[in-house]
Amino acid sequence: MSYLALARKYRPRRFGEVTTQEHVSETLRRAVVGGRVGHAYLFCGPRGVGKTTLARVLAMALNCPRRSDDGEPCGECDDCTPVWAGRTSLDVVEIDAASNRGVDDARELRERAMYAPSDEGRHKVYILDEAHMLTREAWNALLKILEEPPPRVIFVFATTEARKIQQSASPILSRCQRFDFRRIGTSDIVARLATVLGSEGISSEPAALLAIARKANGGMRDGLSLLDQVLALCSGVVTADAALRVLGVVADERYVELLEIIGDREHGRVFDFVERLTDEGHDLVEFYHGLTRRLRLLLRISLGPDNVPEGISEEAREPMARLAGEFSPGDLVRMLAMCSEIESQGSLMRTGRPRLLIEMLLLRMSYLDRTVGLEELLKALGGAHDPGESALGRPPAAEPKPGGAKAGAIAGPGRGSVRRTGGGPARRDRIRGGGGRGPAEAPGEADPGGATGARIGAAAAAESERQRRLREAIEAEPRLESAVAELDLEVVGR
Ligand SMILES: [Zn+2]
Repeated sequence: MSYLALARKYRPRRFGEVTTQEHVSETLRRAVVGGRVGHAYLFCGPRGVGKTTLARVLAMALNCPRRSDDGEPCGECDDCTPVWAGRTSLDVVEIDAASNRGVDDARELRERAMYAPSDEGRHKVYILDEAHMLTREAWNALLKILEEPPPRVIFVFATTEARKIQQSASPILSRCQRFDFRRIGTSDIVARLATVLGSEGISSEPAALLAIARKANGGMRDGLSLLDQVLALCSGVVTADAALRVLGVVADERYVELLEIIGDREHGRVFDFVERLTDEGHDLVEFYHGLTRRLRLLLRISLGPDNVPEGISEEAREPMARLAGEFSPGDLVRMLAMCSEIESQGSLMRTGRPRLLIEMLLLRMSYLDRTVGLEELLKALGGAHDPGESALGRPPAAEPKPGGAKAGAIAGPGRGSVRRTGGGPARRDRIRGGGGRGPAEAPGEADPGGATGARIGAAAAAESERQRRLREAIEAEPRLESAVAELDLEVVGR
């Protein structure tokens, strides 16, 4: 006996069985009950989320002699079965527009549609898959039908690219009821996979289903097809190990390992890490998507530690929570920005050799430590203002925490603020003392008393004190020097 793919075997037969698209299935079911089914529907949405399935359920519901009072087809009678299986029957015609897109097909369709359904009380349903592939001529022919639709003839256009239809056949759109299908959530896919496996009498590890659902990326059909693949490798139990192997998914532990490398700034280990990934046959683009997901997760956790979202295995929870404490939200945002940069440039998808891109990305992350220096710099300079709170109480960055205590390069509401200046030599000389003295109180302004002299003296003392602290800070942490030079900083007192 040939093996029936799970996606086909478990294709829903009733409106109520379609996951996630209740906003469509409920509306259609009520339309069937109330006898208010439209002449043309446009189903838009990503692939594998139930567009064709719902079109077939609608067709079944319209012609099923055993339809229930609440509009559900039986799904099993001689009328329902061929429609459910996608076989052409007298009254339900399924056309793949990708392979039948010429004007001749449209003309034929038009002639055929002029015939009423085979029996009184029955409906003729045309399901056009990949409708965006139809030519303009085909749409024109269809438009003629839709302008004066024959009674009980219904068109369902399904497409993944509604915008193309908008461009080539906008008059059609105004004659269709449009439904936008949603991507199916990971937990819904997991639940469905578990149900299917339950019916098949196969047990599974939760991490396996999670990995499959994640890889399915919102498509139920893809999820079930992937499950088929994994099942081919398993006997009796779907294990996480088998799933990860079949799917080529990088395990959570590897991401933890990588984030530790980045956090510890072990730049050299980045190359080994990537090499091992490729040796193990992992797809680097896939890995990149996983990394983006983990960083986003870390950011979410670090912003709200109680809020560990779904989509992470039990084993990875603890290390992820720990890592979230080691990276500051500012750095995570910058790492995510680095990731999205290479995606928005499209370079990752275009290149045939993503390895170098990935290595550079990871290295940029591991070198992402200038913010430590900047923060220490701020502390060091601010310290001159109020020695009691001096950050130099402990030498700056003398105990560099791995990835910890980094902050974004944004001056906080502290005593000093940092701003970029116009460049030029000897910038560090321009780092001025604050001490509550703004530029308006520069020497030489009207101040008849002897206070000016004293103030000049105090300002000069504060300035040299600040220079001294800065020198100390740079001695203790040489990275500060390049931070000051590169960022071209001027520190201004309050
Ligand atoms: Zn039936």
